Amino acid sequence: MCKSVIQQEVNKEEDDEDIGTLSRIHHSSELLCIMRSRILNPKVYQSTFILSCILSISKAEERPHALNTLYQSLKIKQDRTDTCPRERLVPKMSGITNGSYRKLYGTDSTVMRTSQNISVFMVGDVMLGRGIDNILSMSCDPKLYESYVKDANVYVTLAIRANGPLPPKDERKVDYVWGDAIDILASEQPDVKIINLETSVTTSATPWPYKGINYRMHPSNVGVITSANIDCCVLSNNHVIDWGYSGLDETLKVLRNSGLRTCGAGNDIDDARKPAIIDVPHKKGRILVFGIGDGSSGIPVAWKAKKSQSGVNYVDVGSEAELTKIREQVNGIKKPGDIAVMSVHWGGNWGYEIKKEHKQFAHNLIDTCNIDVIHGHSSHHPKAVEIYNGKLILYGAGDFINDYEGIGRSDYTMFRHDLSLMYFAKFDVNSGEVKELKMVPTQIKKLRVNRADEKDVQYLFEIMKKECGMFNLEVNREGDVLVLNVKSQ
Ligand SMILES: [Zn+2]
Repeated sequence: MCKSVIQQEVNKEEDDEDIGTLSRIHHSSELLCIMRSRILNPKVYQSTFILSCILSISKAEERPHALNTLYQSLKIKQDRTDTCPRERLVPKMSGITNGSYRKLYGTDSTVMRTSQNISVFMVGDVMLGRGIDNILSMSCDPKLYESYVKDANVYVTLAIRANGPLPPKDERKVDYVWGDAIDILASEQPDVKIINLETSVTTSATPWPYKGINYRMHPSNVGVITSANIDCCVLSNNHVIDWGYSGLDETLKVLRNSGLRTCGAGNDIDDARKPAIIDVPHKKGRILVFGIGDGSSGIPVAWKAKKSQSGVNYVDVGSEAELTKIREQVNGIKKPGDIAVMSVHWGGNWGYEIKKEHKQFAHNLIDTCNIDVIHGHSSHHPKAVEIYNGKLILYGAGDFINDYEGIGRSDYTMFRHDLSLMYFAKFDVNSGEVKELKMVPTQIKKLRVNRADEKDVQYLFEIMKKECGMFNLEVNREGDVLVLNVKSQ
């Protein structure tokens, strides 16, 4: 039936479109078939037709889903200037009134919403300095101050030795390092994207003294970050001041001038504590991202931001006083419908152990500070996930992009620092509870992100099953994606 009805509809003239014509169709799936056929043909792309179709779905509660499915099928991507794809079609339609919206969504257009869930993409460390910076269009001076390696080119040479040559420079687009992640993001279409940017963005030539490992990316390469439409760069980590305070100041300027939101470091303590606030249009909510860093991740205590000194929002995670400060801050900003994310750089680089005080701190943030999500990072590999009182805790999101692939550290190979996960979580905007967590396994190879192969998907599956099992959570495989059973506790 569907095919013949589509054909009839496609053959019609645009002005034949009306709800009456479609009223014999009762199922949203049939309507969607028609809508796709009509809309994919530019000649018959007419917005009023879309609204007619949606409104003719008899069950009101099916309408938002139908519209969402349509947008997904049309592959209309969200982007910075037009964060809600619906705006591309619906509000620009002529003759659509608030009355029509009310029929569609049960609300006026100004507060239109289609879902009670907000979807958030999170990854751990995105390291764009050193060997990575060296393969980008404009690179910093490759000189390094490490014990053994004195030139960033060495990391590129080692990567090539391990996994073969990179594509020629003129074939590497600005989003090269994101690799397969770009397609994965396009198909998942999260509302908000958060990364821990484990790199300063500066040409500052003065390394932080005696640190040894200093990461920086040339400011001209900031398009690498924006090319993935990242919403928030967390900066409360042990590399953001690798090239001194002037390096931090430049990092903040470059990122903010590029429209990227930042948190966790700032021009003074107040600036460093400010959350990144991301409005999620039509979903009646905001994502607040607070960034903190703990000394256990290697952040020098001297980097702590002060009243009149730029720096990191350095926090002692064991401290009651810190919890009180966080509680007051969150309560002063958070409104109903907001999801509060605490992004925390903590713990060492290797190992699955979760410190007792970190676990307690995460629980306290949820119990007493109105935090909904803990986005933990610093470990070079993914660690356990916990759901505590319905709230999501990622203890360690792992390294998502780095230049270590050529380094054969036999003592750490069991941790596989080349493997990572893209975390896609959905949260209920009313309760802040996690409703879904999908984890897409990836591998860093040729200095870019790749979908992990079958062997590595299975490896990560076994790891996550074991680690999440410690919190009585089940992880399942759905094809190449790992899915946390959020109800398994
Ligand atoms: Zn770190």
